[in-house]
Amino acid sequence: MQKLLFVLFLLSCNTFLLIAQIERIEPACWWIGMKNPNLQLLVHGKNISTYQVSINYPGVKIVKVNKVENSNYLFVDLTIDSKIAQAGTFDIKLQQNGRTEDSYTYELKSRRPGSANRLSFTSADVVYLLMPDRFANGNPSNDNVDSQPEKVNRALNYGRHGGDIKGIQDHLDYIRQLGATAIWSTPLLENNYTQYTYHGYAISDFYKVDPRYGSNDDYARLIASAHQKGLKIIMDMVSNHGGIGAWWMKDLPMADWIHQWPTFTRSNHKAVTTKDIHAAQCDIKLDQEGWFDTTMPDMNQNNPYFWTYYIQNNIWWIEFADLDGIRMDTYPYNDRNAMSQWAKAILDEYPQFNLVGETWLHSSEDIAFWQKDAVNSLHYNSNLPTPMDFVMNDALSTCFNEQGNGWNEQGMNRLYNTIAKDYLFANPNNLFIFTENHDTQRYNNTLKGDLAKYKMALSFLMTTRGIPQIYYGSEIGMSGDKNKGDGDIRRDFPGGWTGDSINAFTPQGRTEFQKNYYEFTSKLLNWRKSKEVIRTGKLLHYVPENDIYVYFRYNKKETIMVILNNNDVQKILKTNRFTEALKHFKQGIDVITEKTYALAPDLTLPPKSALILELE
Ligand code: CA
Repeated sequence: MQKLLFVLFLLSCNTFLLIAQIERIEPACWWIGMKNPNLQLLVHGKNISTYQVSINYPGVKIVKVNKVENSNYLFVDLTIDSKIAQAGTFDIKLQQNGRTEDSYTYELKSRRPGSANRLSFTSADVVYLLMPDRFANGNPSNDNVDSQPEKVNRALNYGRHGGDIKGIQDHLDYIRQLGATAIWSTPLLENNYTQYTYHGYAISDFYKVDPRYGSNDDYARLIASAHQKGLKIIMDMVSNHGGIGAWWMKDLPMADWIHQWPTFTRSNHKAVTTKDIHAAQCDIKLDQEGWFDTTMPDMNQNNPYFWTYYIQNNIWWIEFADLDGIRMDTYPYNDRNAMSQWAKAILDEYPQFNLVGETWLHSSEDIAFWQKDAVNSLHYNSNLPTPMDFVMNDALSTCFNEQGNGWNEQGMNRLYNTIAKDYLFANPNNLFIFTENHDTQRYNNTLKGDLAKYKMALSFLMTTRGIPQIYYGSEIGMSGDKNKGDGDIRRDFPGGWTGDSINAFTPQGRTEFQKNYYEFTSKLLNWRKSKEVIRTGKLLHYVPENDIYVYFRYNKKETIMVILNNNDVQKILKTNRFTEALKHFKQGIDVITEKTYALAPDLTLPPKSALILELE
């Protein structure tokens, strides 16, 4: 009898092992009333492809069940008829011989009112870029979590320091008062490997916030409170690569889900090859299919299953978290036609949405190519509204440390020449402009701590065309040297950790040095908020003479005159040359000092200075 029971037990175990188990369905939920009625579900589970899938819910139809190389996957094509389907739940059943072996409760949610017409970041905004691990630690209890191998260690500049979503949440008022109107946080999604995870760009789960930052719901709550305070949130996304610890790396749906090489092969990082009509195929292949780093498997955007999975993932986050924009990492390392499809899919769903791509290239022609509606002989349209203006960043990285003259390409001539190439761009006012970001030298180090130069640079950034972005800590003159490693340009914001000796989040906590930076930045950013003429006005600029750059922003109502004196000495600027822009204006009020300047016959300019004059 005992023997028989034992045999029965073994049989039941065996039967149990054979029963399909749905381990994962992605996306895990969806919404009714989307413009695109199609949805493709990735279903993962042991030997799942030997089962039939059935759904019984009004308005939801299975169009096709796709089997792929790996029998542990099914890709299920659904259509959701927005006229019939209601918000609610239904079972996705796995069946064999008419018997249901497993089921998964799937939810179709209602969308937020106005979701499809959501607004996004524009030239009206100032974007505050922060790194969540380095900004503020609002919740020390999540610094170390069992599921993640890398533990907190503030002594290492490449280690995890413990910053999190709560830290951002706690300082929304700080960012708002500074005068920024949008926040771009570097990626918050899970990076589950053993070291150097704080930067967040080796994502191991595209659907999950890293538990050391908080939960998906914490992220959605952060965005809801940011919205209440008038702040927008831009999510940092990566389509070029995943993380070495991604769950699918242990069980790829198909060999070409990622780009595989016989041994580790790094990208040549030659993004110019993508559109080079003479490029050797091997160079293009290496740029596109080489891995960005050892921890970053290169994703195959030409695999239609992966690409649908990825596009749906981005739309899922827009709906789930109520996003105001997306920043796309390593943009030109992706397949260019796939990227065009990605942007189109998102903009078809959200016509007013904005997407900014990391177009880290060093000529205006190269960057212009990537902007939506660019004219080029390849008839290529990226559909990307906003490229990053790295050429302007290059100019800003040197121009205040050198002297321009009539013929050279230095000093103010750099700014003028960069702006003079705007004819290349389909929409220059949509360019993302910045003096620094999380990958560049700290601007304060570039300027060797010279406040006068910082004021000039920020005056320019906040008054020229485009969407300005600042980097956390710029506003307090934070230092960091890229030559000491990326960790050094990503130092902890002082005051973000309990026990910090300086708390630069509060006026009384700032040093004199920090105050000088903060007060200037805050005054300028808050002034910009209400200036329609800066957001959308026309730009008229004059060829720099004697390393003085003069330009105007104007519309029917208002004219702003900006003067940058890049000389180490005081200069007298005769104004009769600017009649075309000055017209009837007699005087101008400087927006920082609020001093009134008579415009004729000349203006006295202090050494290394900026004037932003509201003309009257
Ligand atoms: Ca923490």
